[in-house]
Amino acid sequence: MKQLKEKEIIELIEILKKYYPDATCSLNFKTPFELVVSVMLSAQCTDERVNKTTPALFKKCPTPEAFEKIELDELEKIIHPCGFYKNKARNLKLCANQIVNNFNSVVPNTMEDLITLAGIGRKSANVILLEVFGIANGIAVDTHAKRISNRIGLSSATMPEKIEQDLLSIIPKKYLKDVNHLFVYHGRNTCMARNPKCQDCPVSHLCEYFSKNNL
Ligand code: SF4
Repeated sequence: MKQLKEKEIIELIEILKKYYPDATCSLNFKTPFELVVSVMLSAQCTDERVNKTTPALFKKCPTPEAFEKIELDELEKIIHPCGFYKNKARNLKLCANQIVNNFNSVVPNTMEDLITLAGIGRKSANVILLEVFGIANGIAVDTHAKRISNRIGLSSATMPEKIEQDLLSIIPKKYLKDVNHLFVYHGRNTCMARNPKCQDCPVSHLCEYFSKNNL
């Protein structure tokens, strides 16, 4: 794997920033707790579907206390469209209970605390830290970040934790707040899992997949 130099990494990110000027979090939320819920619901589900489901959910359950109180089967029914509703409903109730009892009903603002919550792993915690608290110390390695990192040659690893370490070792800190959104937008619009639009890609000259496949 040919490692990009820091100058090229900065070029890559700056190009993507210009190409996707509107790249932001596409989950709708008004409070930190609403983002915790939305992030949990977004596992294996599109943000669009989550955004269609959460208005009714947040009307019924505006606080962690309300999530503790709602009957499990009623919660399952509301979040059913998001898939894996049984697991997600169980985790949501448990997570709400942990926030109430362990964190005085306030969503914690450290990686260490966030990953103690049911249903919240490093990826979700990174999203919450960035979107709610403006803290960008890590990178949420989702399916887009993984695919793009592997294709461009930023990391050859398959485990998200290792990919995150690889990215953190090469991406200058000031760009960490940008890369999550840029990877998601690039993955949705250009570097899709199937049939990536390599001929239209603004960073093809920096991409290992592109040069290896003589595109
Ligand atoms: S050239 Fe193709 S594989 Fe490489 S980043 Fe662009 S779309 Fe993805």
